[in-house]
Amino acid sequence: MSENYKDHIDKDDKDNYEDICYICRRPESKAGKMVHLPGNVCICADCMQKTFDTINKNGAPYGDMMNFNPAMMGFNMQQDIPNSQKLKKKKTEEKAKQEESVLDIKKIPAPHIIKGELDEFIIGQDYAKKVISVAVYNHYKRVAGRIEDDVEIEKSNMLMLGPTGSGKTYLVKTLAKLLNVPLAITDATSLTEAGYIGDDVESVISKLLAAADNDVERAEHGIVFIDEIDKIAKKRNTNSRDVSGESVQQGLLKLLEGSDVEVPVGATSKNAMVPLTTVNTKNILFICGGAFPDLDKIIKNRLNKSASIGFSADLKDKYDNDTKILEKVTVEDLREFGMIPEFLGRLPIVFTLEGLTKEMLVKILCEPKNAIIRQYQKLLALDEVDLRFDDSALEAIAEKAMEKKTGARALRAIIEEFMLDIMFEIPKDENIGKVTITRDYIEHKGAPLIEMRGINKPSLITHNQQA
Ligand code: ADP
Repeated sequence: MSENYKDHIDKDDKDNYEDICYICRRPESKAGKMVHLPGNVCICADCMQKTFDTINKNGAPYGDMMNFNPAMMGFNMQQDIPNSQKLKKKKTEEKAKQEESVLDIKKIPAPHIIKGELDEFIIGQDYAKKVISVAVYNHYKRVAGRIEDDVEIEKSNMLMLGPTGSGKTYLVKTLAKLLNVPLAITDATSLTEAGYIGDDVESVISKLLAAADNDVERAEHGIVFIDEIDKIAKKRNTNSRDVSGESVQQGLLKLLEGSDVEVPVGATSKNAMVPLTTVNTKNILFICGGAFPDLDKIIKNRLNKSASIGFSADLKDKYDNDTKILEKVTVEDLREFGMIPEFLGRLPIVFTLEGLTKEMLVKILCEPKNAIIRQYQKLLALDEVDLRFDDSALEAIAEKAMEKKTGARALRAIIEEFMLDIMFEIPKDENIGKVTITRDYIEHKGAPLIEMRGINKPSLITHNQQA
């Protein structure tokens, strides 16, 4: 074998293997970037730092080493730690004062202002908006007040019930944006008891810390939204250990109540390589949400039982068609559903969002600031085309969405389906000035009304299915 060829193989081999620290023997993937010293010696950042520290403490046996500057070797100790794992420095008091804070008691918007802002984005759900505005106002008043006397204001964690697609997540998201506080949204289904496959309950706080740019102070005033909370109801008739139901509720107790939690920075699970920090959850607002399917049956049963006793006995099917049955929920019903009493005790505010009606869906289509239809109108306006929707077309879209039973979520899918043809065809002809979507077009019975700049002309656009 020629000498050159051997060198080549050696080099290839070296490229395939990780460097290993000469001192601690950890590979590059664990210990990070290595410093290469003459004689094929690699040393990791940690060991390098330890060596310098020892030298600084005990005096250097070799004078030259005292002048050694790692930067001279193109090596930056801080650079190796990704920003996502670094903690923000604590603010000095002055700096904290300088920064505008929503938590200044005088600046917390009053409930009617919070609700007014929510109104611009969220259609209907008046009761829910009112409850949440008052609760949030009280919560931040409590946080900012820090009154040190006998009257301690309790935390106003919330439990929000409502069918899927009725705006639970949207409500919380809008609120967090409005208050400029960090928000973490988690799905309760992904949580399991510590030690089992899945996320620990503390991962919720890690997410919040990430949303707050690793600023512990900001995270401690944030909002955590735990969705699908009904999925961690106690499992009935089970003999196996309930690691994703009751245990998760138990685990959440101390977070809801307020405690110091040790969380990994820049990761959702603790391991040797990520730094840990402590976050106090006392001032974090927890909002839990869920659709609670079949809870209506429990409520109906209870109401029927109490209504069928005595002289004022009612008809048995009185509540069968009551669409607002969920609003009559009590803590006992939730307990029967499988939520444990301690958990419910820590969520003192319980309220319900209504299922969306056809009228509400029509409004959602066109009224909010960033309504879907407005988004399309803006897109076409960039091509100088005026996009209009007939009232009957809007109703047809809402009717289709109602059939899907996924609330407002269905709207986008429906609109996207028929707007595809419009968005594809319109830019073909520069003379098109106005497009009106009609009920017939939505129902695949006809075409949209196209008006040319100046003249009217029948449309050539049809659905794919008709083409
Ligand atoms: P869920 O109740 O299942 O959490 P979401 O909040 O995720 O439902 O709602 C899905 C989408 O539907 C939101 O992103 C929002 O655009 C729209 N939406 C739902 N309800 C409303 C509402 N009341 N007003 C305006 N938009 C809504």
